[in-house]
Amino acid sequence: MSDITIHGLRKEFGSVLAVDDVDFDITEGEFISILGPSGSGKSTILRMIAGFESPTAGEIRIGGDDVVGNPPFERDVNMMFQDLALFPHLTVAENIAYGLKQGGVPADEREDRVQEMLEIVHLEGYDDREPHELSGGEQQRVALARALVNEPKLLLFDEPLASLDRKLRQHMQIELQQIQHETGITFLYVTHDQEVAMAVSDRLIVLNDGQIEQIGTAEELYDEPNNSFVANFIGDIN
Ligand code: ADP
Ligand code: MG
Repeated sequence: MSDITIHGLRKEFGSVLAVDDVDFDITEGEFISILGPSGSGKSTILRMIAGFESPTAGEIRIGGDDVVGNPPFERDVNMMFQDLALFPHLTVAENIAYGLKQGGVPADEREDRVQEMLEIVHLEGYDDREPHELSGGEQQRVALARALVNEPKLLLFDEPLASLDRKLRQHMQIELQQIQHETGITFLYVTHDQEVAMAVSDRLIVLNDGQIEQIGTAEELYDEPNNSFVANFIGDIN
């Protein structure tokens, strides 16, 4: 059985059908990306999985249970946004440990987990710095460490690297793949950067107008597109 199952997921905003009966499964440890034009429903799907938006219909099963109706903090899911929202007057270590502290994790265990995370995101020794002392890429790494530290079942990314320049973005995305392998946490990734997504994802979902056109590996989408939309969309990057 898949670790995460999305079934008949639908979202209407008034007369706008943003997500139109979407079905897909994610296997534990997978790096899966959602590609699609602006307005195709990518963010709405992520927001429903995270619990920030209620579906009009459908099921979101995470580890077997339908979590629709559960508040975000009860879903074992974290989400990373483009807007990082690090706490400006907390140190790097305090930012990373914030959720653990709220959750009552003892100080010595927090310290161990923070050190482990700093190593994973390649920021060893940055414990006492404050966000304003960091570059954009370093702030991204702190936000990632904060999202990973409580070992969620699923980590959602909504174009987290969009504010970085192209070179750094590509570098960070490849680093993300390494971090995903290292932690084994399941990643569901929304991006505009099709080229890198094709290179780093185990599978990709191509979304158009609220519907899934195709789910498959980069090779499958490229070699056997279901229709002309997928062929053109994937073809755009070559
Ligand atoms: P994407 O992330 O792929 O760009 P979105 O999920 O943001 O797409 O949007 C999908 C559709 O739903 C768009 O037509 C958008 O205008 C609409 N939409 C998204 N959020 C809202 C909202 N809160 N209220 C009304 N319409 C919305
Ligand atoms: Mg979006």
